[in-house]
Amino acid sequence: MHTLKRKFMMDFHTHCNYSPDSDTPMEDMIMAAIQIGITDLAFTDHVDIDADIDNYPQDWDFDRNAFEKDIFSMQEKYQEKINIYQGLEVGVQPHLIEKNAEIVKGNQYDFVIASLHSVEKRDLYHKKFFEHHNDIEAVQIYYTELEKSLRKPMDFSVLGHLDLYLRYKPELKNVAAKHYDDIVHVIFKKIIEDGKGIELNAGGFRYGLNQNNPGMTLLKLYKEMKGEVITLGSDAHSPKYLGSNYKENCELLKSIGFKYVTTFKKMKPVFHKL
Ligand SMILES: [Zn+2]
Ligand SMILES: [Zn+2]
Repeated sequence: MHTLKRKFMMDFHTHCNYSPDSDTPMEDMIMAAIQIGITDLAFTDHVDIDADIDNYPQDWDFDRNAFEKDIFSMQEKYQEKINIYQGLEVGVQPHLIEKNAEIVKGNQYDFVIASLHSVEKRDLYHKKFFEHHNDIEAVQIYYTELEKSLRKPMDFSVLGHLDLYLRYKPELKNVAAKHYDDIVHVIFKKIIEDGKGIELNAGGFRYGLNQNNPGMTLLKLYKEMKGEVITLGSDAHSPKYLGSNYKENCELLKSIGFKYVTTFKKMKPVFHKL
């Protein structure tokens, strides 16, 4: 890995056209990332089995070997300009633990995001899940299903966009923390003990949320519980959003007391002073 002369700037949550919801070629994302000053860029394309999203295939998957080959060739081509990482965003659900573990073992990933996009096999994006539960229940079940999805080992680096449900049903912000605190404690305790972390995902701003995912309550709780591992990602599916809210989010993390942000190389954390 080259030490680049430019000031460190990371984006560890991006998608290109290996994901069904992006049509941007990998190289276009890389060139745009270099332009805006990103030094460390991870592609985290989607594998989401039983995603159950209308108008999309049931399973989101792609040619992961071709992706790896592209990543390796881009790493070489752009090594003087940017550090590129092979990542993956895996959709977790309790019944997928073994299957996801196999997928993650299949290639040489640097970084894996574990994200809960579908709850009780109903997708959040098209709000099917919310039709079946009142607000308190919906939030409780979301975290319970996430906790269940982490009970057996699966090699991942961070939990993706905690409180994702707010993007699709912002009113759930009114559900008081006391209704889901216990279960989030269990989740944070487990990931902290396992040396895993969370991400700060700027995508919420594009959903008119005026916050990242997760928001302040969970970030502060994670810090209070001595969580140290935190990555920054835009969740960009096109060049326009690469690195979004980066500076603001570094400041935000500092204001909460975080001293470092984290990148991952071959699934091992590397800490960068904020
Ligand atoms: Zn996601
Ligand atoms: Zn994503």
